Amino acid sequence: MKNVSEFFGCKVFDDRVMKANLSAKVYQSLRKTIDEGAKLDISVANAVAAAMKDWAVANGATHYTHWFQPLTGVTAEKHDSFISPSPDGGVIMEFSGKELIKGEPDASSFPSGGLRATFEARGYTAWDPTSYAFIKGKTLCIPTAFCSYGGEALDKKTPLLRSMEALNKQALRILSLFGNEDVKCVRTSVGPEQEYFLITKEMYERRRDLRFTGRTLFGAKPPKGQEMDDHYFGVIKPRVAAYMEELNNELWKLGILAKTEHNEVAPAQHELAPIYTTTNIATDHNQLTMEIMQKVAAQHGLVCLLHEKPFAGVNGSGKHNNWSLATDKGVNLLSPGETPYENAQFLLFLCAVIKAVDDYQDLLRLSVATAGNDHRLGANEAPPAVVSIFLGDELNAVLQAIETDTPYAGTEKTQMKLGVDVLPKFNRDTTDRNRTSPFAFTGNKFEFRMLGSSNSIACANIMLNSAVAESLKIYADRLEKAENFEDALQEMIRKTIKDHKHIIFNGNGYDDTWIKEATEKRGLLNYRTTPDCMPCLLDEKNVKMLTAHKVFSKAELKSRCEIMLENYCKTVLIEANTMIDMAKTEIAPAVSAYVLELANTAAAKKAVDASVSCNYETGLLKKLARLEEQIAIKADELEEAVMKLQDAGDIEAESYMIRDGVLSKMGELRVACDEAETMTAKKYWPFPTYGDLLFGVK
Ligand code: ADP
Ligand code: MG
Repeated sequence: MKNVSEFFGCKVFDDRVMKANLSAKVYQSLRKTIDEGAKLDISVANAVAAAMKDWAVANGATHYTHWFQPLTGVTAEKHDSFISPSPDGGVIMEFSGKELIKGEPDASSFPSGGLRATFEARGYTAWDPTSYAFIKGKTLCIPTAFCSYGGEALDKKTPLLRSMEALNKQALRILSLFGNEDVKCVRTSVGPEQEYFLITKEMYERRRDLRFTGRTLFGAKPPKGQEMDDHYFGVIKPRVAAYMEELNNELWKLGILAKTEHNEVAPAQHELAPIYTTTNIATDHNQLTMEIMQKVAAQHGLVCLLHEKPFAGVNGSGKHNNWSLATDKGVNLLSPGETPYENAQFLLFLCAVIKAVDDYQDLLRLSVATAGNDHRLGANEAPPAVVSIFLGDELNAVLQAIETDTPYAGTEKTQMKLGVDVLPKFNRDTTDRNRTSPFAFTGNKFEFRMLGSSNSIACANIMLNSAVAESLKIYADRLEKAENFEDALQEMIRKTIKDHKHIIFNGNGYDDTWIKEATEKRGLLNYRTTPDCMPCLLDEKNVKMLTAHKVFSKAELKSRCEIMLENYCKTVLIEANTMIDMAKTEIAPAVSAYVLELANTAAAKKAVDASVSCNYETGLLKKLARLEEQIAIKADELEEAVMKLQDAGDIEAESYMIRDGVLSKMGELRVACDEAETMTAKKYWPFPTYGDLLFGVK
C-alpha cells in the first residue's frame, strides 16, 4: 500500500496537475478565474479542456460528464465519450473548451417547480471552475451549475455560489470600515460531520421498507438498544474498520480530506468528518462522500443508510455543519483577535450571526426540513425544532456586560469598552460542551446541528450566508454613515444584544421545559414539520431579503417551495404504500400462519388428552387474532387516508393532509404490527428484526 501523501488527490485535476500541464499563461488566467471570478477566455478554456482530457485519458477515463446537483437531492450526470471519428476509420479523443464550459442535458425530468415547462426541455449546465474536476470510474466529472434556459437556477450550487458572493460583498464593506483594505475576498468554510448506519446487505435485501424508503417502517424495540451507551466511541468492529479504511482511501484519492471516524451513540451508527474547506467545495465533497460511502459499502456486503431516522427508538442521523468565515489572508473572522480593535470586529461578526439566526429562524428551520428530518427535529431527540444559539458562559458574560454597561467579572476592568479592552481568550474546550443546541458557538466557528444526514448542505448554507449578509449590510449601512465610528459600533452591538438575546440559550435544548419557555416566554418559532415551515419561504420578509441579495428570484423561491413540498408528499406516500403492502402481503399472512399453527397444536393436544387446558395456545391465539384484525383495519384506514389525497387540490393542502392524516394512520398500523411481532414465533416473521439489523454487522 502506498503512502497516503503519494496518492492523495490522484483522481483530481487539482492545482498541482494544472500547474504541471498548463502553460504559465493559461495557468495564470485560470487561477484568476478561480480566485477572483474573472471571466474565462475561450482560448484559455480550450487549452484547459485539452489538458484536462489528456490527463483524464492518461488516467483511464473514456467519458466526461457535467456533474450537477438538481433539486432531487442527489447528484446527476450524463456521460459523453471523448471519442470523435477520424477520417481513417479510427477515433481520436476530443474535448473542447465549449464542451467544458457549457452542457445541455435533456433536463425535462428534473424537478423545476413550474420554472420550465416540460416541452421546453432544455436546461444548461455551466462549469464551476472553483471546484476541481475529478475522475470517477472511467468518467471525468466536471462540477457544474444547472440553470433553465431563462437563467433561473434549477440546482443547489447556483444559489449557494450567489449567497457566498452576497456575504463576501457585505463582509468586505465591514472589513474596510475596520481598516482592512487589503482583504480581497471573504469566504465561508464548512466542515460537515456525517452520520450514518451500516447494516448487512443480506438483511437489507429482505426488507422492502429499507429498499424502497431507506428506513424501517416496522420493527419492535429490540431487547437491547442504545441504553448502555457502549457503542459511542467504542472499539470499531473488524468489518466496519475494513469498510472505513477503504472509504478513506477512495475519498483521499478524490482529494477529500476525510479526517475523523468513530462509532456513534446508536448501535451500528458511525460518523465521518472531513477537514473543513470552502463551502461550495465542501458541498460537492459531501455529495461525493455520501455517494462513495454507499458504493464502498456494497463492495463489503454492507449497506450504508443515510436516512435521518432508519430506526425508531434509537438516535437518528444528522449532519453537523461547522461554519466560519475567513479572509483570503487566512484570518478567521469568528476568532477573537489579539488586539482590542480586532476583538471589536470579532464581536460585530458574532452579533451579525446572532441577529441573522434570530431574524431568519424560519429560513434556517426550513432549509433542513424534509420528511426524513421531521423524525429527528420535533421528536424526542436532540436538537429540537426550535432554533436557538449556544454561546457558552464566558462569551455570554461578555455580551451581558456590554449590554448592561456593567463590569465584566472575568477581567479587572470596570467595564467593557469596545476598541479599548481586550476580550478574554476563548478556550474551545470551555465552549463546546453543549451538544443539544441547534446552533452552537464552538470557539472559532458555529456548529449548525439541525441538518439531516441525507440533506445536501447547500440549502442550510445558502440561508445562513444570506441571513448573515443581510445583518452585515444593515451594520455597514449604518456604520458607513456614522460620525463617530466607535460610538456607533458600541451602540449597535449593544442594540443587537438587547434585541436578539432571546435566541441565546445555554441550557439543555432537549428538555421539554425549554420548548415551553422558548415558545411561550421567548416567542421563538417551533415548526415541528416540513409542511409547517416550508410555506414561510414565500413570506414577504424572506422574499425581500433573498431577492435583495440576488440569491434567489421570486420565481425560483416559488418553485423551490413547491418542489420541497412535493418531495415531502412523495416521500411519505411511498412510505405509506410500502407499509400497506408489507402489512397485507407479509405481516398479516405471517401472523395468520402462526395463528393456524397455534390452533393446530391446541387441537392436536386435545385429541390426545381432552382434559389438557391449552391455555398458552388459546390465550396467544386470541391476542394474535385480534391484532390480525387490527392490522387489516388499520391498513384499510391508511389506504383510505392515501386515497383522500386525490381531493387535496394543491400541494400545500396535500402536505397538511399527510401531516395530519396519513402519518398518524401509519403510526397506528405500525403499533399493531410491532405488537404482533413480539408475539409471533421468530421463524414466521417475514423479515429481519431490529435486533438482527442493529447487531448484525460483526
Ligand atoms: P466535534 O465532534 O467536537 O463537533 P469534529 O472534530 O468531529 O468535532 O468536527 C469538527 C469539524 O469542524 C471538522 O469537520 C473540522 O474540520 C471543522 N472545523 C474546524 N474548524 C473550522 C472552521 N474554522 N470553520 C469551519 N469548520 C471548521
Ligand atoms: Mg460536532
